Amino acid sequence: MLLPEPLLRSLEGVEGFDREAFQQVHDSGEQVTSIRVNSAKFSILNSQFSISNSIPWTQFGYYLEKRPSFTFDPIFHAGCYYVQEASSMFLEQAISQTTDLSQPLKLLDLCAAPGGKSTHLQSLISPESLLVSNEVIKARAGILKQNIIKWGSSNVIVTNNDPRHFARLESFFDVILVDAPCSGSGLFRRDEAAINEWSVDAVQLCASRQQRILADVLPALKEGGTLIYSTCSYSSEEDEVIGDWLVENMGMENVALKLEEDWGVVETHSPNHQAAGYRFYPDKLKGEGFFLACFRKGGEPEKVKYSSSKPERVSAPEQQVLQRWVKTGGIQFAKHNDRLLALPQNLMESFSILQSALYIQYAGTDIGEIIRDKLIPDHALALSPLLSSELTRTELDYEDAVRFLQRQDIQPNAPKGWQVVTYNGYPLGWINALGNRVNNYYPKELRILKQQNDSGFGK
Ligand code: SAM
Repeated sequence: MLLPEPLLRSLEGVEGFDREAFQQVHDSGEQVTSIRVNSAKFSILNSQFSISNSIPWTQFGYYLEKRPSFTFDPIFHAGCYYVQEASSMFLEQAISQTTDLSQPLKLLDLCAAPGGKSTHLQSLISPESLLVSNEVIKARAGILKQNIIKWGSSNVIVTNNDPRHFARLESFFDVILVDAPCSGSGLFRRDEAAINEWSVDAVQLCASRQQRILADVLPALKEGGTLIYSTCSYSSEEDEVIGDWLVENMGMENVALKLEEDWGVVETHSPNHQAAGYRFYPDKLKGEGFFLACFRKGGEPEKVKYSSSKPERVSAPEQQVLQRWVKTGGIQFAKHNDRLLALPQNLMESFSILQSALYIQYAGTDIGEIIRDKLIPDHALALSPLLSSELTRTELDYEDAVRFLQRQDIQPNAPKGWQVVTYNGYPLGWINALGNRVNNYYPKELRILKQQNDSGFGK
């Protein structure tokens, strides 16, 4: 693998960089596959994965012995796990070592698509906490929304805003994660084509953009709150130098993390020795290139009054219709863009504030819409823990589960009416059995398009 010489030269002298080992691991062709499980739905003990090891810096991550075709695993579509690069899961150390996660918190994941770190954060926070998962690029925000729905939580709000827009939410968030767009050198081993897009100029461009993004969003961080900054670039300009800039110019205080020696993570220091950060080199651990650093915002928290706009109310007869479908304890229904949604009661005030400040793509759990006194349930409800346990569930065998996910016709032995179809007990989506036929309500945009299945799942 021909790595860019200017990159290698720029890394000489950076803590932990070993040119020979670095080049060798890029030449080796070794690919690491890892998953992070959704502990709210699934236990790895019940799975058919061949696991080689657990990932030491997270309670949810596992290395797999080989990479299966996840597309043909129904429980992947049920949101039981997320396929994620191992180094990124270090986020768990960053948040759990800097923040009291037992508290009800407001968190923002500013650059969130496709949702790896948001779904991880969701597994770590308390049900009373709120995660705002934002993505500036509209099409990517759509993918983020799908992954949040699949994960099946009701305390996440997906927004599609520019970092500048968060200035309207002064001192609102306890934690902000900026997993910044970067020059991407950390992923060269996985994606050789990315090498052609790398240049010294691109690094400079990314570094200026990272500063701009951070400067835009920092007013939204509460005084005393935590900023987690990460990239998948090896370039100091995008990593430690940004850390220095945050400390010297933006009033941030660097926070150090504790490491276990056998993790192979390297603590690095910025050129001006202002900020410690954490580097992941693929020649030192099983994971791709990654950098992360933590900061605390100085100052005393002040009470800020936010403008808010109350969501449209759901009428008593509509609430009555929903009782049969939803576990209603602790949640409140609201209307957003003509859809019925459910949010934890304690998050309604934040929802009203966010609604007046941001462009909300998705909030809580979409329940569906009521037409002529009947609910047409949304896919999100099927994948949510709010799904009533009293609703009919029909278990599918592997072949039917895949056909369902391909949005083909299936003929399960099912009673009449709306029901959730499951595979190994995990909900996949809705069907409506009409007597002479079964309508498949798996969302068109999610359907499996690949036809050939040699995944080995279902054997
Ligand atoms: N955090 C994500 C995850 O774990 O799945 C990966 C995020 S990726 C490294 C960076 C994201 O930043 C991309 O989704 C990209 O669309 C978004 N982005 C690009 N330009 C941006 C900008 N100017 N401001 C904010 N986000 C931006």
